[in-house]
Amino acid sequence: MLTIRQYGDPVLKQPTKEVEEIDGRVAKLVGDMVETMYEAPGVGLAANQVGVQRRLFVYDIGDGPHVIINPRITEASGEWSFEEGCLSVPGLSWTIVRPSHVHLVGLDLDGNELSIDAEEYQARVFQHEVDHLDGTLLIERLDEDQRREARKILRARALAG
Ligand code: ZN
Repeated sequence: MLTIRQYGDPVLKQPTKEVEEIDGRVAKLVGDMVETMYEAPGVGLAANQVGVQRRLFVYDIGDGPHVIINPRITEASGEWSFEEGCLSVPGLSWTIVRPSHVHLVGLDLDGNELSIDAEEYQARVFQHEVDHLDGTLLIERLDEDQRREARKILRARALAG
């Protein structure tokens, strides 16, 4: 089991580095991340959420688990409103508008190229996790009012904790 880093941890704001070689260490990390995601429980987990600066995430939206190594979103279109939360910002969620459709490319654990057209929920998970790998938290996707409210809650929490 790995520790999920929480809002305020600088590791969440640093863009991750591409995986150059898919070796046993990467496979072990992926296995540990999947376990940690299920235990949380969550539907997605990015490597920097467990303190590892590598560009990969795991997810399971009911047909997994899956891993995407070196993911890139190459196309995005449409608009979809969905209530989104994050394991690194526990207990909070916001309705966020993002593209409804994305095309994602990357590699699987065997190094095979992946090319996935995703809609709505799957597209949302992909965007959320790729954001993490770029050092972006969902807080930065909020509108101005939501963000002001979120900062207030998170500041109060930091003081309490
Ligand atoms: Zn998250």
